[in-house]
Amino acid sequence: MTSYDYDLFVIGAGSGGVRAARMSASHGARVAIAEERHFGGTCVNIGCVPKKLMVYASHFGEDFEDAAGYGWTLGKPEFDWKTLIANKDREIARLNGIYEKLLNNAGVEIFESRARLLDEHTIDVGGKRVTAAHILVATGGKPAQADIPGRELTLVSDDVFFLDKQPERILIVGGGYIGVEFAGIFNGLGSKTTLVHRGPAFLRGFDEDLRHFLAREMDKKGVALRFNQTITSVAKGQDGLTVEFSDGRREDFDQVLYAVGRTPNTQGLGLENAGVALDKRGAVQVDEYFRTNVPSVLAIGDVTDRLQLTPVALAEGMAVAQTLFQESPSRVDYADIPTAVFSQPPIATVGLSEGEAREQYGKVDIYRADFKPMRHTLSGNEERALMKLIVERDSERVLGAHMAGMDAAEIIQGVAIAIKAGATKDIFDATIGIHPTTAEEFVTMREKQPDPGVSEAAE
Ligand SMILES: Cc1cc2nc3c(=O)[nH]c(=O)nc-3n(C[C@H](O)[C@H](O)[C@H](O)COP(=O)(O)OP(=O)(O)OC[C@H]3O[C@@H](n4cnc5c(N)ncnc54)[C@H](O)[C@@H]3O)c2cc1C
Repeated sequence: MTSYDYDLFVIGAGSGGVRAARMSASHGARVAIAEERHFGGTCVNIGCVPKKLMVYASHFGEDFEDAAGYGWTLGKPEFDWKTLIANKDREIARLNGIYEKLLNNAGVEIFESRARLLDEHTIDVGGKRVTAAHILVATGGKPAQADIPGRELTLVSDDVFFLDKQPERILIVGGGYIGVEFAGIFNGLGSKTTLVHRGPAFLRGFDEDLRHFLAREMDKKGVALRFNQTITSVAKGQDGLTVEFSDGRREDFDQVLYAVGRTPNTQGLGLENAGVALDKRGAVQVDEYFRTNVPSVLAIGDVTDRLQLTPVALAEGMAVAQTLFQESPSRVDYADIPTAVFSQPPIATVGLSEGEAREQYGKVDIYRADFKPMRHTLSGNEERALMKLIVERDSERVLGAHMAGMDAAEIIQGVAIAIKAGATKDIFDATIGIHPTTAEEFVTMREKQPDPGVSEAAE
């Protein structure tokens, strides 16, 4: 029998890789992990965590204004970008240390260098050759680069977390969740913010109502939204960066952030040496047990270009550890995964959008509430909230819940449990609300929206 140095070699210590390595080691496997940049990967260092800290930072401006309606008088608030970035860096360094400690405590051998496959069982890690019975590719993704003249003058999300100076005027290109979140961050911090998106509305895939509602709210807060447009070039100008838009207009900005998607991190990994198949976007192709076409090589997380979320990568890491070292083949259930966009206001969603539900089930009932939350009665803030339930008419099962408004992510996480459990509208109705909250609206909505099919037929 061939003996390998390790039972499992993980490439990439991000969300998925760390979880798979720790769990596999806890099941008794001999595990090593390679990380070339930062423990904790994208989420901890240049993703979810620093982004959310910046969202918190950016909300204070509005909170100070809201406080006046409640009787508070404050001096003129001032914001210091350098303090925020330094404090954020300190917190991220603390988290890096925790991730490294977790791996050490689990008995995982750590290589702080780049790894690449030499064949289906052999890895070159920082010039050393090691072998493993299984290799797990968990190398994540990276921001797609601009493909226009002047691309070298633009930023990607990785850069934004380390800017020396807050831009006074920023242009964000892209209508995915990262672009929308950074638009809220910079606008909240006082930068003049413009978001340009080539489609008619941002956040493709989310409920239409929610997309348009959020656009209106962001517009009210002062983000300049330009849909059905793109940019064609960026050049150094007299006053910052001169950007040319697809309609020929030119405008100056201090920074241009490109947020047009992410590509799987598979270049230079030596996957071709093992014969691992990639799809046309360069993502590793896997089956439901995260196996590639090569039996000893598996892949999880963003490098497989499926649902790019940390909790999904974590679940996949758990499943791999269980499949390989617990003799219990495990898959991940991708149904009803809740997600949020930490925009301002935030939006969150679980289950099917109205459009998807109508397509899949035909007859659905929609319950919808659009209102000014109590907090804003005295604050004078014009922000509204939208809450929506999508119900299958025959079975009464709640197929989707959507919300835009303060604490949307916190609220939808709880609603997601009910939806995952298959709750019907009756169960929502039988649940007593917590008063006074915004969340109680999810259990008090009784009025169905007029059925568009019926009103059209009546015309
Ligand atoms: C700006 C931003 C905001 C986000 N916000 C959220 C959010 O709010 N909620 C959410 O759920 N998700 C969010 N995400 C997505 C989330 O970060 C990813 O889905 C998650 O990190 C994927 O985990 P992963 O393990 O697949 O890869 P990663 O976390 O990307 O880890 C991959 C690791 O592999 C290392 N690596 C790559 N190649 C090699 C090599 N050859 N050798 C050694 N090491 C290598 C990399 O350095 C990296 O550390 C966000 C992402 C971004 C960019």
